[in-house]
Amino acid sequence: MSIAENLAQIRKRIAEICARLGRSTDSVRLVAVSKTKSVSDVMEAYTEGQRDFGENYIQEAISKIEATAHLPIHWHMIGHLQTNKAKYAAKMFDMIQTIDSIKLAQELDKRAKAAGRIIPVMIEVNVGDEASKSGCAPDQVHSLSIEILRLDSLDLKGLMAMPPYLSPEEERPFFSLMAKLREKVIAFGIPESNIKELSMGLSHDFEVAIEEGATMVRIGTAIFGAR
Ligand SMILES: *Cc1c(COP(=O)(O)O)cnc(C)c1O
Repeated sequence: MSIAENLAQIRKRIAEICARLGRSTDSVRLVAVSKTKSVSDVMEAYTEGQRDFGENYIQEAISKIEATAHLPIHWHMIGHLQTNKAKYAAKMFDMIQTIDSIKLAQELDKRAKAAGRIIPVMIEVNVGDEASKSGCAPDQVHSLSIEILRLDSLDLKGLMAMPPYLSPEEERPFFSLMAKLREKVIAFGIPESNIKELSMGLSHDFEVAIEEGATMVRIGTAIFGAR
């Protein structure tokens, strides 16, 4: 199937699940994950009305962001961000979803300020407590939120996670833990408006993620094909 057909299929599935849950379709934002894919693949999705794209690596993202600089595309950084790359990320991305330490948040804030920007960010949570994955521990979300809210040039939007790769039903508890974490930090005093988004759900599990409260899904393979 073409990118256009895949995209139409994904949008239909998102609309169906939202209808079943009594949520509006636009309560779920679709981020098309274009890592390893070409600018022409990005353009094909763009032509179909796709505006949010996700990239994992600074080096790879630079050329795509430059090639599409004339277009109203929102670029999301969804890969692990090293502190020494913060200066590039602060200039390039419309949203950075992978803040997982105070050190990274402070560096990014400094770089955002220097670039004259306020950057929307999310906290990445290592929700399955996996040694191989980045993200802060679930019990650090509250303190990290408080730190980020103190930084003038970062605008906290929510939480992001990539649970252990299992079947969707086996992943459900991780998605529901994310929703609970969000509730918990709100209960402990983080304003709801600062942590509205839940970015979770990939090609194989986005429907379960939406059932558990995802407001943003990040889909690569099901749109662009295998990597
Ligand atoms: C690659 C990637 C995705 C997309 O995964 P698919 O299985 O291709 O849909 C989403 N989020 C992150 C953080 C990724 O690295």
